[in-house]
Amino acid sequence: MGEEKKIPYKIYLSEDEIPRQWYNVRADMKNKPAPLLNPGTLKPMTFEDLRPVFCDELIKQELDDTTPYIDIPDEIMDFYKMYRPSPLVRAYFLEKALGTPAKIYYKFEGNNTSGSHKLNSAIVQAYYAKKQGLKGVTTETGAGQWGTALSMASAYFGIDCKVYMVKVSYEQKPFRREVMRTYGASVTPSPSMETEIGRKINAEHPGTTGSLGCAISEAVEVATHTEGYRYVLGSVLNQVLLHQTVIGLEAKAALDKYGIKPDMIIGCAGGGSNLGGLISPFMGEKLRGEADYQIIAVEPASCPSFTRGKYAYDFCDTGMVCPLAKMYTLGSNFIPSANHAGGLRYHGMSPILSQLYDDGFMEARSVEQTSVFEAAQQFARVEGILPAPESSHAIRVAIDEALKCKETGEEKTILFGLTGTGYFDMVAYQKYNDGVMTDYIPTDAELQKSFDTLPKVEA
Ligand SMILES: *Cc1c(COP(=O)(O)O)cnc(C)c1O
Repeated sequence: MGEEKKIPYKIYLSEDEIPRQWYNVRADMKNKPAPLLNPGTLKPMTFEDLRPVFCDELIKQELDDTTPYIDIPDEIMDFYKMYRPSPLVRAYFLEKALGTPAKIYYKFEGNNTSGSHKLNSAIVQAYYAKKQGLKGVTTETGAGQWGTALSMASAYFGIDCKVYMVKVSYEQKPFRREVMRTYGASVTPSPSMETEIGRKINAEHPGTTGSLGCAISEAVEVATHTEGYRYVLGSVLNQVLLHQTVIGLEAKAALDKYGIKPDMIIGCAGGGSNLGGLISPFMGEKLRGEADYQIIAVEPASCPSFTRGKYAYDFCDTGMVCPLAKMYTLGSNFIPSANHAGGLRYHGMSPILSQLYDDGFMEARSVEQTSVFEAAQQFARVEGILPAPESSHAIRVAIDEALKCKETGEEKTILFGLTGTGYFDMVAYQKYNDGVMTDYIPTDAELQKSFDTLPKVEA
């Protein structure tokens, strides 16, 4: 151990070491993720079915279960070089504070203005929209990171960007909104009165503060009813996981430089894009029987898609206009309790990760939000970075595992994804700092209510 090469605090790759291809983990999956279904016919969505909604090249990526490596276009490589490679950090200070023999690494994706990994896919989706000659894109945003990333990407390629922002976030995070407007996006609180579905939801639920599923329906409606526009999504879809593999490929290249093999890989899971991106190259080795890793998804106990959801076909949105996806889901009507503050509030989960989880290739844990913010605070004080609440779910479990190593004396190597920074989440931090943050775990009866609304589809 004493002879071990000293690992630097940060392992940087050079610009030339940014991967030139994304890795498509579906190519190595024996059980492929289930296809998206047309909500009208319940038949798998074809390229033609998807054309009114998504850009052509992105549909090809969405439907491609067999090509293992897909070239990253030069224009995207150029943009990636503005903020990538992202650092892989050895958490020496956290290890010391915990007194653990575990070796902890984190891949930090918060080093860009959007404050998260979402820019990795936003730039790709804006690029293909531009290349197809479109005028603009529409999308939803919850906490605001995705909308910010997409407005940056749209500004870069000179296309229009319309963002439907969940009303409660629109009101709680006015500065997020201004960042998006600075990059030229229009931002509308959802549900709005501008769309048919928005008017319907407002009529049925007066005073509603909105949800992601509802904002998705509005954004899709506007895209499909406006000439030259398409809809883009920041997580869940196969294409988004594909783009996010730049995270895992860089992390693996950096670890390989020092001959480090993680025992455990941990990531937070909302729709599954950062986790899918981080683990894909490692999962590929696992699927091909070349190596083994313990892989852990972490989700909020108040929105427990993996740990308490059903693996079933469900709607991706409240208005039921999107294709059906087979995924771990809490039901498209599920809305986390009002005190939920830590993000990761989507009712479903990536179909790729859902299949891998169902096949036993990864595990999942749920954690309560006060324990998440406790971990966030501890991390901020020793490692310097103020983490996003979402990312802090992964920090929580990384700390828990490092503390287990302290008890057993095991020197495990832990890698986790630090997806972003939390500067716009100060209302949630304030609740924690004031000691008024509470936890809520939905009852089985509450979950059953939204399971009852799952569409009846033979899965
Ligand atoms: C959006 C977001 C997440 C969750 O989304 P995934 O698609 O599950 O990765 C996690 N962390 C941050 C900082 C985010 O912005």
